Amino acid sequence: MLSYDVLILGAGPAGCSAAYDLARAGKRVLMLDKRMFPRHKACACGLTRKTLKALRYSVEPVVERVCHEIVLRHIASHTAQRVLVRTRDPICAMAVRERFDAFCLQQTLAAGAELCKVEGIVALREETDRIEVDIATAAGIETLEAPVVIGADGSNGQSRRLAEGLRTGKEVRAAALPAEPQWYARGFALETTVPYAMLPIALPGGDTPQDLVFDFAPLPGGYGWLFPKGDHVNIGVGAFAPTPTGDACLKSVTRALLTEYTEANLGITTLPNITGQYLGMGGQAYVPHGRVLLAGDAAGLVDPLTGEGIYSAIVSGQAAAAAILACDATDLTEEYARRLQPLQKTLAFSRRAAQAFYAHPERGFRVMRTPLLRSLVLKTYSDGLPPTKLLGILSKIFA
Ligand SMILES: Cc1cc2nc3c(=O)[nH]c(=O)nc-3n(C[C@H](O)[C@H](O)[C@H](O)COP(=O)(O)OP(=O)(O)OC[C@H]3O[C@@H](n4cnc5c(N)ncnc54)[C@H](O)[C@@H]3O)c2cc1C
Repeated sequence: MLSYDVLILGAGPAGCSAAYDLARAGKRVLMLDKRMFPRHKACACGLTRKTLKALRYSVEPVVERVCHEIVLRHIASHTAQRVLVRTRDPICAMAVRERFDAFCLQQTLAAGAELCKVEGIVALREETDRIEVDIATAAGIETLEAPVVIGADGSNGQSRRLAEGLRTGKEVRAAALPAEPQWYARGFALETTVPYAMLPIALPGGDTPQDLVFDFAPLPGGYGWLFPKGDHVNIGVGAFAPTPTGDACLKSVTRALLTEYTEANLGITTLPNITGQYLGMGGQAYVPHGRVLLAGDAAGLVDPLTGEGIYSAIVSGQAAAAAILACDATDLTEEYARRLQPLQKTLAFSRRAAQAFYAHPERGFRVMRTPLLRSLVLKTYSDGLPPTKLLGILSKIFA
């Protein structure tokens, strides 16, 4: 049986950021991923300032565009509001997810972490001092062991439900996964890419192909977006705000809606490459348990106001690594819970803000007419939550 210091399920932003810090600290780390890299992942890959700051290395080689302006729109039959927000510092960097992830993985492997392609996880067994992980590979079933496992396999992965199974038993098998934990909720988003070469000179939506657009009219509890990349526009629709069931309004995100939205904004009707994925949410209520620490979408850490998840994935992966490096397994979960708390507080605020904002987006737009509040909202998106005093102002805005 092969032994590691840490096993990590998933080599996306959460898995890589955990593996990077652990490997740099001299730990023997193995990441297990069911996909070969580079691989496609549905994601508009907008990287806010706080995301770029959280990363341990520059991702400049894969940044395709840096945006200093955002167009915020709410154009419905009864209302037409458009706010252009311009800043001296860049608001958001644009990358293509396939290349961004491959680049981060390359840095992580160079730091000393290892990667193994798996078909999936077959079972987890919790022993007194370690976890045994049965994996399915092309060569058959193998067993690996480590004192701690990080579940970073995204919204559709197995680790969240496997970890849930270990709350009540010593072994959990993928063939009999327990239900999703109660705190977990889902958003959903669909996207496509349209090369600039295919676009008409004047766009029917009124923006230029290089504008970074958030559009709050097309669907309830979410937005449509246009993210300009090097040679194409990434256009999509997503639902993020929680409804009374916990999940966002998933049924509103359809291929028909994306097609209609793309036609209205880019004048294109045939979309060859629509892809989509659930976004993991509800993580403000996640309480770590045992020897499996969840990070990123697996832990439901996507921001329900903005749909942003790469930042949380990086920060939670790093928090898991820091907890492992700071203590032995006995108080590992408390340590991880403590380190995750600031992010969870932010997400709890975002959840309330999302419920208030998406119930009446036009009110949010009224707020944005005041330059001071506009820059505050923008700064929050790009840099994260401001100090407590400003947070008080934001809470009043969204109340
Ligand atoms: C359409 C769309 C647009 C988005 N746009 C943005 C954006 O612009 N900015 C932003 O910040 N966020 C965006 N997000 C959210 C963002 O994509 C996620 O929050 C982020 O990818 C989470 O990272 P992660 O490492 O937790 O999971 P992932 O990136 O999903 O990585 C999980 C990894 O685990 C692997 N895996 C899955 N199952 C298994 C298994 N059983 N065994 C082993 N490996 C497994 C996968 O192959 C993958 O490599 C968007 C999401 C969607 C769906």
